[in-house]
Amino acid sequence: MRILKGIAASAGIGIGKTFLYVHEKIVIPHNTVEQENIAFEIERFNQARNKVHVDLSLLLDDATAEDHQKILETHMIMLQDPEFVTSVENLVENEGIGSEWAVEKVITSLIEMLETSADPLLRERKADIYDIGWRVIRSMMGKSRANLSIINDEVVLVADTLLPSEALTLDPAKIKAIALDRGGRTSHVAILARALQIPTVVGLGRITDKVHMDDEIIVDGNIGEVSIRPNTASAMKMRQRFEKWVAHEKELQELKNLSARTKDGHGVILKANIETVEELDAVISHGADGIGLFRSEFLFLKPGGATEEEQFVAYKSVIEKMKNVGPVTIRTIDVGGDKVIPGMEGLSEENPILGWRAVRFCLSRKDIFRIQLRAILRASAFGKAKIMFPMVSGPEELDNVMVILEQVKDECRRNGIEFDEDIEVGTMIEVPSAALVADLLAPKTDFFSIGTNDLIQYTIAVDRGNDKIAYLYQPFHPGVLRLVKMIIEKGHEFNLPVAMCGEMAGDPLSAVLLVGLGLDELSMSPQSLLEMKNIIRSITLSEAQELVDNVMKMNSHININTFIREWMHDRFGSIVTA
Ligand code: PEP
Ligand code: MG
Repeated sequence: MRILKGIAASAGIGIGKTFLYVHEKIVIPHNTVEQENIAFEIERFNQARNKVHVDLSLLLDDATAEDHQKILETHMIMLQDPEFVTSVENLVENEGIGSEWAVEKVITSLIEMLETSADPLLRERKADIYDIGWRVIRSMMGKSRANLSIINDEVVLVADTLLPSEALTLDPAKIKAIALDRGGRTSHVAILARALQIPTVVGLGRITDKVHMDDEIIVDGNIGEVSIRPNTASAMKMRQRFEKWVAHEKELQELKNLSARTKDGHGVILKANIETVEELDAVISHGADGIGLFRSEFLFLKPGGATEEEQFVAYKSVIEKMKNVGPVTIRTIDVGGDKVIPGMEGLSEENPILGWRAVRFCLSRKDIFRIQLRAILRASAFGKAKIMFPMVSGPEELDNVMVILEQVKDECRRNGIEFDEDIEVGTMIEVPSAALVADLLAPKTDFFSIGTNDLIQYTIAVDRGNDKIAYLYQPFHPGVLRLVKMIIEKGHEFNLPVAMCGEMAGDPLSAVLLVGLGLDELSMSPQSLLEMKNIIRSITLSEAQELVDNVMKMNSHININTFIREWMHDRFGSIVTA
């Protein structure tokens, strides 16, 4: 038996046999081919195409979702595209290069050509070309990758890392738990695991070296512990912990229809964060007051991206389903960082976390941005929507996105497209410079929402997804708490409601502190809602404010952490502070 400690990323305990999944970095051989081997080389390429075609048709047989079927059919057509096939064959024949290299060259030049196209639909084909080209290359190199969406047995997935686009394909009915070498609590794969309600531990170091396929394994996502090949005593202990947790979750269900109000009558709005439309049932069953953050970029992470119509349908369905529950805050596309659009992996930056992300991406890809804004505005006619801009770093950037929003609104008016003329527009405060100029941003916006995942990352200069420095990622760092307090005070000075939608907002350990700091709204993964409500309903505003007074005088995150942990443990016992 072996026990590994990692970072608790998604609550619950999963037990089962491992399914091992490790990404291999593929280096394409840039080799030349002798004249007499050219025919063989071309044959190798065509055999790989045939093999990929068979693989895709098997996937098509199993695909149930209509958009998944459409993507597979498109890929099968592209595989037979005479331009693609003859371009590769010509390169092998005329330049005498290996087939893998030829395919790489052809897809790179096709992608570059599409990049400059004025037609957004054509540009969206980039991801498909990339996907299909790499399938053929992997097949020629004998490096086919397992398809996670067709895992048939119930397994615990152990991997080095997972791309958000891979995590999106997981079937929660099959994946009992996830254990990853890399990642932090606020990395997007961890956020998705919570969305899918799969118990998950990340940042385990090299767990992929320590397990084999089909090993027995227990993943405890509540405390961040993984037992490999557990002995009977340890398995029993885990099971007891699991049962205690299930009983507590059941008790919390009774709070579902009650409001999050302190004992002395101070109300806090509790909303949910979602990444996919499928999460709505969990949002409603956990009694959310609305959606405080719809991470719209996840619509774009599938091959082929998301057309205006696909986005409109998704936004409209969420807004309509939430009509009698509360408003839906749609955050405009926040790609970049660890959220890579398929097909754009090749365009990697030296420093993506500080790079072409969120509104920066939207301001240089106004075509994508305008389409998204139009889709949101159209959907806003069907209920209560709000728009929110991510990663704003200062007033000019906010002005620039607002100008585009106004232009798109005008365009809708001219074309007789109905939308909510009173739609509220909020600004995420997640870059330290934005926090420092909150007073300059406040007059230009309807609400603030503090994105602590990034605010902590940028304030402490610690990559939120890097487990090696995860010990530095401290929500209770006095510098972070001063910034959060300042944003709330500035927002309130300008009569703006101030929300928080980073993971800190759903952490039971932070609950009393956040209420005491005066946040009007907390938005979190649906699974955290009832625990947060439980805590808020058990305290008074004045004792939360007293806790804040004490904490703000402390000089280190260690002291703050110990103080809050003891406070919470005295009140709520081990479940909240595990
Ligand atoms: C945040 O940064 O806190 C946030 C909510 O946005 P994301 O996690 O998607 O970057
Ligand atoms: Mg963010």
